[in-house]
Amino acid sequence: MRTATAYRGSIFYFKDSATFENIPTSKKENDHSQYVYLEDGVLIIEAGKVSAVGPYDELKEKIKNMKQVNYGDKLITPGFIDTHQHSTQSSIVAAYGEHLLEWLDDYVFPGESIYDNPESAKADINFFLDHLLRNGTTTAVSYGPLFYEAADLFFEELNKRNMRFITGNILMDKDSPDYLRLTTQDNYDISKRLIEKWNNKNRLSYCLSPRFALSCTEEIMELCGALKKEHPDLYIQTHLDENVAEVEAVKKEYPWSKNYLDVYNRFGLVTERTVLGHCIHLTDAELEKMKETKAIVSWCPISNNFLGSGLFNVERVLKYTHNITLGTDWGGGNSLSMFAVMDDAYKVAMLQNYKLPSMKRWYMATFGAAKSLQLDSKIGNFTPGKEADFIVIDPKASPFLKYRSEKVNDIFELLFILMTLGDEKVISATYILGEPAYQAV
Ligand SMILES: [Zn+2]
Repeated sequence: MRTATAYRGSIFYFKDSATFENIPTSKKENDHSQYVYLEDGVLIIEAGKVSAVGPYDELKEKIKNMKQVNYGDKLITPGFIDTHQHSTQSSIVAAYGEHLLEWLDDYVFPGESIYDNPESAKADINFFLDHLLRNGTTTAVSYGPLFYEAADLFFEELNKRNMRFITGNILMDKDSPDYLRLTTQDNYDISKRLIEKWNNKNRLSYCLSPRFALSCTEEIMELCGALKKEHPDLYIQTHLDENVAEVEAVKKEYPWSKNYLDVYNRFGLVTERTVLGHCIHLTDAELEKMKETKAIVSWCPISNNFLGSGLFNVERVLKYTHNITLGTDWGGGNSLSMFAVMDDAYKVAMLQNYKLPSMKRWYMATFGAAKSLQLDSKIGNFTPGKEADFIVIDPKASPFLKYRSEKVNDIFELLFILMTLGDEKVISATYILGEPAYQAV
């Protein structure tokens, strides 16, 4: 027998019709048409999906005989979507003093080597996933381990946890240390096996994941293009225009290319299901191509600041595409909290004299990302029928947050202080398909 559970609390989500453009930027606009904010609301979950949502007063009769969980004035909202992260880099987060290319050699490659051992891989992966859920992220586009056993194990653990996730084995077949170098054929074979086993299995999607142009031969990129043709629903993720020295090196390595994006485009890897991390140093021609292909940007401000990569110019990119999502780039990014990402996105925009309103950033980290990933019919808001991945946020989690949140006047201000002052301690609970996956003690 199906049993429904009613969660009572303050509720916020974007409506299906919301877009980056039509979301109001402040209460002054008095426009409630693109979001729902209920100070005393009820979210009813049945068989892992949203069955109803509305004001408590309207639903109190209906829920009388249901199991009820009362979160008081805590905020119930869809889980975050992180569109760029490295599941294998927890052990090197917060390492000192290098820019991208040296960082990879000195920290990332040695750190990822533990993944050749399934035992240590399993422990590391589960630590990572627990930490992700503790931060309120329910879906991610993530780089998985290079080796088959560890990558398979990652899918296995995600499947056990029922998470909606987009990932794949990271691909690299050149300019890497011996202990991480697989042949082109090995890389390809691993991808093929994992696609067959995991793509579209339950809530999992396989993602072709060439690390970046400097780690990949033309041959492996060509094979990725062939796999994408064979399986058009595959996602693709890679890095683009992160660091000036990297952009220069790509130019030298691929003298035939018009620009960095052109390298990937040559092999059919720039599509509307391609997530491109960073995109800081884009040329106009690259932006035109992003617009034409509807490729997805993953802006990773905490990583960009930490590695000194540069300032993403959101105002400029928005002139070409609204497919801008947010990523932690866990590894280079020193936090798995989307609050930290939204906070740094604001600061990076401010450094360039551009204001990025709270609700627009929240949209980029939730429903906007679901839309860009073509997952909005499944996740990202509370329209009945959607999969019930949601989080419970405590706006009074610390003495100062309590003090400050008691002074806010509307949802715009509340979201703003949460993303400016919040971190993992603000997350009271994370639910996956209506089941508790993390609960603060
Ligand atoms: Zn990255």
